[in-house]
Amino acid sequence: MSQKEAFDQFLKSLDEAVKEAKRAIKLPLIPDQKTGRLLWISNRELRLRYAISVDSNKKFYEALLDGKLLATKCPTCGALYFPPQDYCNRCKKQGLQWVELSGEGELLSYTKVVVKPYSFSHLEDYIVGIAKLKEGINILAWVSEKDVSKLKRGMKVNVRVKEREEEGYLVYEIVPAQD
Ligand SMILES: [Zn+2]
Repeated sequence: MSQKEAFDQFLKSLDEAVKEAKRAIKLPLIPDQKTGRLLWISNRELRLRYAISVDSNKKFYEALLDGKLLATKCPTCGALYFPPQDYCNRCKKQGLQWVELSGEGELLSYTKVVVKPYSFSHLEDYIVGIAKLKEGINILAWVSEKDVSKLKRGMKVNVRVKEREEEGYLVYEIVPAQD
């Protein structure tokens, strides 16, 4: 059973339990399966979409439009941060500098995702990996290659900005280097 089917089945059984409760006690109250505590099941479905403030990382998003990948660097100790943050964990200081990353590195590890999160369940199986850039930063991202047998740990890769068709916006992904 796919994750979506399992989720749909769960919703269906929940609907039935609520219907039964309404019939029996005139309230949408059912006990929680694990704890036995009473739950109120609302009729309304909530659709959740995030709006997250990224104002302090504006430069990072502007650079993506130019196909560039930026990190932040601590002017005191030289620590690099990706995804960028304006705070050095080591020095406990704010006010980091922006630096462009080469995107060049090697594939540290990868895996094929077969059981997907619910929001990705409509997608084909995909590969995610970790690239270790020559600057010393590890980047977790999707891998452009669909055939897992063509990947090898330690192979040369580039982290590139590209528009993802599924979402229609820019992301960065790991691309095996051509040689
Ligand atoms: Zn520092």
